[in-house]
Amino acid sequence: MKVYLTLLFLSLFGITAYGNQTSKVYEADAALVGVNGIIYLDNRENASKYLDKVFNDAWFKQNFKIRKPVVVKEPKDYKLTSTIGSNVANGRGTISVPDRGCYNFSILHEVAHHIRPNGKHEREFTKMYLILIEHFTNQNVAKELKSNYKRFGVEF
Ligand SMILES: [Zn+2]
Repeated sequence: MKVYLTLLFLSLFGITAYGNQTSKVYEADAALVGVNGIIYLDNRENASKYLDKVFNDAWFKQNFKIRKPVVVKEPKDYKLTSTIGSNVANGRGTISVPDRGCYNFSILHEVAHHIRPNGKHEREFTKMYLILIEHFTNQNVAKELKSNYKRFGVEF
């Protein structure tokens, strides 16, 4: 029995270590709700308009030479997902948004994935996400995200 428990412990530890940074990033995101500067975009159209705002921003256009992803309906109506690849929406990629909409930080999170398509949720991603939060929300939210990163042990 002792052996089995040890094996169970090892496999649980392995799973935790594998998914670590992703779940921490999600926790850091969730803890932004209620912070001054976080807004809720209450349907897909408003989420899409927010994405337009990001891609029309002069600073953004100057720094990031990527094409605007296509906003699509989230098939499971669960949470936002990004699909990236040369064969996705003519190379633009997609951001799927549920019918109920999303927070502005979720759009910025997905845009960071499109800028850093190989970053998953590692440092390459978390740094970029923070830069977008700093520019498109305010210093208050950026400070909060940084403190959430530290609180949940996110590498950035
Ligand atoms: Zn993500």
